[in-house]
Amino acid sequence: MKTSFDVIVIGAGIMGASIAAALVESGFDVALMEKGIAGAQGATRDTGGIVRGLELDAALRPLTRRESLYGNPGIVHALYESALNRSGVAYIASAEVCGQYLEAVDSEGCEGIELHASVDALDNGRFSPFCAGECLLIERNGGTVDARVTVSNLCRYVSEKATYLDHLAVDRCVEMDGHVQVHAGKLCLEATWVVDACGASGPLPRPSNALHARTIPFTRFGCDQAPSMPIVAHHLNTYLLPLGRNLVQVGGQRRQRAEHADQLSMAPLDNEQDVMDRVSRLGYDRHHSLPVVTQVGWDAYTEDGRPLIGRSSAKSHIFIATGFCGIGFKMAPNVAELLAFELGGLMSGVSMDAAYRSVMDAFRPSRFAEVALS
Ligand SMILES: Cc1cc2nc3c(=O)[nH]c(=O)nc-3n(C[C@H](O)[C@H](O)[C@H](O)COP(=O)(O)OP(=O)(O)OC[C@H]3O[C@@H](n4cnc5c(N)ncnc54)[C@H](O)[C@@H]3O)c2cc1C
Repeated sequence: MKTSFDVIVIGAGIMGASIAAALVESGFDVALMEKGIAGAQGATRDTGGIVRGLELDAALRPLTRRESLYGNPGIVHALYESALNRSGVAYIASAEVCGQYLEAVDSEGCEGIELHASVDALDNGRFSPFCAGECLLIERNGGTVDARVTVSNLCRYVSEKATYLDHLAVDRCVEMDGHVQVHAGKLCLEATWVVDACGASGPLPRPSNALHARTIPFTRFGCDQAPSMPIVAHHLNTYLLPLGRNLVQVGGQRRQRAEHADQLSMAPLDNEQDVMDRVSRLGYDRHHSLPVVTQVGWDAYTEDGRPLIGRSSAKSHIFIATGFCGIGFKMAPNVAELLAFELGGLMSGVSMDAAYRSVMDAFRPSRFAEVALS
């Protein structure tokens, strides 16, 4: 069996699968390793798959842009586009918040954004009586991507052109001179570069105090009529995701945190009650809305709300790509493209230009303490 690679990517959630596929497409000899089944273990398992370009944090906008940053969309962008249900995405928010979103439109040139002074334009005005004073933004190009289909297609691409190993947990990595040993049970593989895409779990040290795991609960309820598109309901601090004509998923707000995903309490707390209270404020009648299930997912969070992307320390050959703070699904195509670009530069000795660095500096792990690997 082949044991030596240019890059080993650890973790086949949406991020690891996307990064591995982008690297393979760029011509690298890649191994993607997953401890369970791709997309079925971590945050990606529960993702709503909402893909939208508008973002309030300007630093994140290059990652959430719908188009390729280099004007030449690769395999990951193509798979996202082909799996996208272009329903549009609605934002119900105050005039002030809508104004902040529109700044993003000005700077990033998002197309297909409509601003309405009331929510009348959404679903024949059914939410209007309950949202007096709120404005409506509709991002026509937004929608949802089927995460399972996309991760599975990305992994198939990797397995056809490179190496994909699932049901194999990485135990530890050891940095040698110019390469990294990756230990998984009896197996020892090695690579010039390793990418840690293990989300809120994983065996590798991360910068101390940079990352924590946080629960993301959600409740699904049956109702007479689901909304026609996902709604980001700022005024209720939640989202509504239609899962069919009569089924809606709503984000809960009773969250818990821990250092590592394995230490999280998965108790649903009173999220169901809380969610049903919130959706009743959108006009969903309690007598015709039946909570079906409440689940607790999780993701990796950072203190500043921005992901960790880059070398784990200045000289390390281990890259970190985690800390996607509950919104990483939509970022995967651009993160994958950027990392493939940077690793390509490192392999060929070309340093990144100022434009690239100005985008990525906001995400460097070195903004937190550096890590030392054994
Ligand atoms: C309920 C919920 C709804 C969400 N909705 C949205 C949304 O609508 N839009 C959006 O943009 N984002 C959304 N998110 C956030 C998004 O899903 C995450 O940011 C994204 O999935 C993170 O992907 P990841 O690949 O970084 O991590 P993960 O999906 O957690 O993947 C990590 C992978 O690493 C593997 N791994 C861990 N340890 C090891 C090991 N030792 N060896 C090998 N493999 C290992 C795990 O098994 C896992 O497969 C949502 C998240 C949740 C929980």
